Formats: sequence, C-alpha cells, structure tokens
Amino acid sequence: MKVRIGVVAAALAVPLVLVNTPSNAPSAAQNEVVQPDPAPYYWQVPGASERALKAAGFDVEHGDGGALQVVGDQRVADQLAGLGFRPVRHDTVYKDVLPRVADVGVQTFYGGYRTAAENAKRLTDAAAAFPALTQVYDIGDSWLKTQGRGGHDIRAVCITKKQAGDCALNPNSAKPRFAMIAQLHARELATSELAWRWIDHLTKGYGSDPEVTSIMDTTEMWVVPVANPDGVDIVASGGNSPRMQRKNANNPTGCAVPTGGVDLNRNSTFKWGGAGTSRCGETYQGTSAGSEPETRALEAWFKQLFPDQRGPGDTDVAPVTTKGVMITVHSYGNLIMPPWGWTWNANPNKAGLDALGRKMAAFNSYTVRAEGDTTGTTDDFTYGNLGIASYTFELGSSSGNCGGFFPQYSCVDSLFWPRNKGALLTAAKAAKAPYAS
Ligand SMILES: [Zn+2]
Repeated sequence: MKVRIGVVAAALAVPLVLVNTPSNAPSAAQNEVVQPDPAPYYWQVPGASERALKAAGFDVEHGDGGALQVVGDQRVADQLAGLGFRPVRHDTVYKDVLPRVADVGVQTFYGGYRTAAENAKRLTDAAAAFPALTQVYDIGDSWLKTQGRGGHDIRAVCITKKQAGDCALNPNSAKPRFAMIAQLHARELATSELAWRWIDHLTKGYGSDPEVTSIMDTTEMWVVPVANPDGVDIVASGGNSPRMQRKNANNPTGCAVPTGGVDLNRNSTFKWGGAGTSRCGETYQGTSAGSEPETRALEAWFKQLFPDQRGPGDTDVAPVTTKGVMITVHSYGNLIMPPWGWTWNANPNKAGLDALGRKMAAFNSYTVRAEGDTTGTTDDFTYGNLGIASYTFELGSSSGNCGGFFPQYSCVDSLFWPRNKGALLTAAKAAKAPYAS
C-alpha cells in the first residue's frame, strides 16, 4: 500500500486526504495509461451562468439548492479566474477512505464500492438466492462490448412474488410497474449501492415485512443497478482515487479520459439535440439521438415494460389512469426532479408529478424542482414518450463526507438508504396510479 498526499490540499491548508492505492485496482477499460487525477475540488462560481460555463467546456454541476459548481483542480480554477470568474473552493472531491472489513472475495474500491463485474456477480447471486422473487434479463450491451473490446451486458432484474405471466418483457403486465435505474453516470458511486439496498430490502423482506410483502404481491419492481458499466470500469481503475468518468466509454475521437465518451443522460431519443456538442465536454450528447448502445438498450427495455400512455403533443396530458413510475438515480444536490428537462415550461402533468414528488420528499427531505436546459434525459424519454411518472433523484449534498460524487461508503447505510427507503416504497405503491394521488 502506498500513500499519496494531496499536495494542493496541503498548500491550501485543508485537511490532508490520504489515498490508498490498491495493487489490485481493476485496469482501465481502454488500455490508456492511468494517471491519477490531480486533487480535484468542487468550486463555486458566483455570478456565472450555466450556459457560459458549459460553453467554455467546464464540468458544471448543481450543488445544494441548484447553485452552480465546477469540478476540477487548481488549474481549472485558474482558467475560471482567467475568464473573469471568481471561483471559491467549496469542498474536496475525495473524502478520507475509511478502513472497512472487506466482504470475503469481493473486489471493492474506495472503501467498499463495487466494480462493474462485482455488481454483475451480485445480481447473479441474488437471482440464485431468490428464484421465486426475481427474474434477471440481459437487456443489451455496453459500448465496449459492441466493439468486441470487453465491456459488459446491461442487466435488469424484475422483483415481485412471481405469478404466471409476471416479469415478462411485455408492456401489458397484470401488475403495475416501478422501474429504477442507477449509475447511468458512472462516477455517481452511491447510486448503485442505493439500488442494491432496495433490491435486498425487497427480496429479504418478503414474507416477514408486511409492507414489502404487500408490494411484492401487487407490483413489479424493476431495477438496473449499473446502467453504464463501461464507465464504472474507468472510475474503478483509479482505485481509492476514483476517476471522474461520467459518460460511457465511446471515445473514438481521443478525448483525454476521463473526459471522453457520450453523456448517456443527454443521448435519449426524446427531444435530443441542443445539449453538449463538444465531443470532449462532460455533457456531450453523441452524434445522433440514441446513438449509444446503452441508450438504445434502456429505451427498448422501457418500451417493453410500459405501454405508451401519453399523446405525442408537448402539452398532451397523461391520463389519470396511467400506470407506471420510473426513477433514475444520480448525485448530487438533494433533489427530486420531475420533467421537463428540455424546456423550462411546466410539464402537462405538473400537478400530479409534483404531488407524488412531495410525497417522496416527505421521506428524504429533497427539494422537488424541475430543471430545464437538459435535453436527451432518461426521465424526459419515459415521461414524454410513454407518459409514466418519471423523476431524477440527486442523492446527497454538495459537501461533507457524504456529499459530492464520492461520498464515504458508510454514507450508503448511514444516510442514503434510510432517507430514501420510504421514498422508494412510496414510488412502488404509486405505480398503479401515480397521477391519482
Ligand atoms: Zn448524474
């Protein structure tokens, strides 16, 4: 074990970040030389416009309450200053890695987070342990797999007390459905772990927890725990200094990893276009609507789960008889975001979507608010195209040991799961009539 000390952090007289680099860190997905990212920070940029920052190519994120932040090292701050902005350091990206009693035989990084391969094994194991309650599907390939360069299957699990005909890839299901996807943005580490707490809560609670038993008897819960497994390989290749990969691994133009790839949350086929057009930018939308295999896999899967229940017009209202809820889990910002992303105009089901959003927020205390200027998102697709009640969750605050992209692993059980358990149960219960609440 070698110990690296954040030099920039020391110079700025903030607590030292001790980083352990394991010798068994998985290799990068693309055979490039792995250089640890220089000590990155979250920077507040008072007075800046999101559009201007993105146009200049910065990695722009939303902090608590939607405040703009830029992710990067001191050089990025210098670039911001050179453009006339006044960046203020907000927090570190890497938190102290706490010792953890490792699960035997499980390859983890950064205090307990799992690689894409470990998450795949975890799903196989869960399905084997609970055959009457689960059905796993391979719904498509990651970009690297389509290129014959390794990569992964993207896998979904249906969780319910299976009756004849349940868990079929057919939109006319007997039971209403709640679909959840996580880690579409690879560096948002806690999101897949939240998905796993949800899967485990449902499978292990059936027959003993009355609330879980009732939901499992009446509803299908579908989960894609890792929607961007190639990206997760790149993140995990940094070991205890996880790499800042947001997008997939489709990097034919040679952007410097971790800025290569396509933003899978800007690539959906609903209102695609007008997002990031810079190939190396963090919100690069891809060459065409649904250009990426991950996007196509997810959209085909959503269409197999849910009938189209909304008209084609921008102002068409999904009827009160609509069934189905979708949550895509991201971080960070403590937000529950309903559509639209493509416009600042209110979505036509705003009253119903906000009402269910507030019911979920009663558990996690997140702010319910739509956010425009983001075309090609997953939830715009599932609401806009199919009419189902759809939300983006942004887990966690922008600072502290449980904040940002890389919260300490212990935060999953101390904060994210206890806060969001009730919200996810609420979503599942609402699947039969999400706009009737
Ligand atoms: Zn995200």
